[in-house]
Amino acid sequence: MIKNDVIVIGAGASGMMCAIECGKRGRSVLVLDKALKIGRKIRISGGGCCNFTNTNMSPINFISNNSHFCKSALSRFRPDDFISMLKKHGVKYEEREDGQLFCAKSSEEIIRMLEKESNDSGVNIILNCQIQDVKKEECFMVSTNHGIFESESLVIATGGASYPLIGASGIGYKIAKQFGLKITELKPALVPFIFSRKDLSIFGELSGISIDAAIKCNKMEFRGSILFTHKGLSGPAILQISSYWKKDDAIVIDLSPDIDIYGFLIEKQQGKSKIEIHNLLSQYLPSRFAKFWCDSHIQSKPVNQYNEKELKGIANLVHNWEVKPDSTEDFKIAEVTLGGIDTDELSSKTMESRRVKGLYFTGEVIDVTGQLGGYNLHWAWASGFVAGQFA
Ligand SMILES: Cc1cc2nc3c(=O)[nH]c(=O)nc-3n(C[C@H](O)[C@H](O)[C@H](O)COP(=O)(O)OP(=O)(O)OC[C@H]3O[C@@H](n4cnc5c(N)ncnc54)[C@H](O)[C@@H]3O)c2cc1C
Repeated sequence: MIKNDVIVIGAGASGMMCAIECGKRGRSVLVLDKALKIGRKIRISGGGCCNFTNTNMSPINFISNNSHFCKSALSRFRPDDFISMLKKHGVKYEEREDGQLFCAKSSEEIIRMLEKESNDSGVNIILNCQIQDVKKEECFMVSTNHGIFESESLVIATGGASYPLIGASGIGYKIAKQFGLKITELKPALVPFIFSRKDLSIFGELSGISIDAAIKCNKMEFRGSILFTHKGLSGPAILQISSYWKKDDAIVIDLSPDIDIYGFLIEKQQGKSKIEIHNLLSQYLPSRFAKFWCDSHIQSKPVNQYNEKELKGIANLVHNWEVKPDSTEDFKIAEVTLGGIDTDELSSKTMESRRVKGLYFTGEVIDVTGQLGGYNLHWAWASGFVAGQFA
């Protein structure tokens, strides 16, 4: 049996960061992963360019049963800390909208950087490694298809339940349960909505249309594009709001967040315009959508035939269009998992279990979920970094 100071299960973003930090402290570290390569999710993140952090990092960008839990880690590992690492390795990056930082070339560069850093810190990695059993006696014992490994500290960095096709296995939750830790309800997040069969028969023909909109649900509001799909709604603003949506909630869509539609319509009406409403709305909405929307919500006629009250009603509908999704897509295509290891079970300073000494959790497996925009990877780096100072 081979004894290490630390075993990290999961060679993803948080596991690699944790292993590197443990290695830098002179700990002997072994990383085990069932995949054939490290960082599979990093590779596909951000369309292959990996939105690795966000310069507007704040605890309000995270969802958790305990909104304070993420604060300590976020304050000890900031976007600048990750940027310093990139600069050290000559990895070029670029800022896109809202402080989102992406690799200029490819996520591969971050993976190579993690490989180099872990190598330099003396971290050993075993890939293609199936975890068969985890036990704790004097120390942790991890049985695998490569043999049994022993360690003083065990870090569970196995990610969430989303994207099973690229490695999510739920083993982190299983290990947590085995040691008696509580897990909050798991739900797909950053995920498209699905319409009911009835709504699809109405909205189905809109598939492919994209609109710049503002979406509200449960006191949250996001601005960005929404995309009608053959199953429902997707697009960045929809993915964002999906993390706050609960079954039977309606989402409220402002279809024209920058233009006061009432002001626009009343001006046309007072100018005695004979243009039909759907043609007027086509100035600000895709014309196929404007036609569909008018056909299903109002009787479209020339604008001069409406009175003020009616135009107010139409404008109000444009700015507050209620849509009730039936459900969301499942974990197969959800970017992240909402919920996870109950934060009451962990120290926010170290990520160590309060019940089981030496057992740590990092990254998406914890009940901390970031919004779209580089927050989830940053949580993975930050929680991995913090655990790496203690494991
Ligand atoms: C398509 C997609 C795009 C995304 N884009 C972004 C983005 O641009 N920006 C952003 O911030 N976030 C993004 N995310 C989310 C982000 O990638 C994750 O939140 C983050 O990678 C989680 O890091 P982690 O270390 O917790 O887990 P992961 O990176 O998922 O790593 C978990 C590791 O554990 C291993 N593992 C799992 N089960 C076992 C087992 N049974 N035995 C051994 N090993 C196991 C896996 O192989 C994997 O290597 C995206 C997610 C997806 C799915």
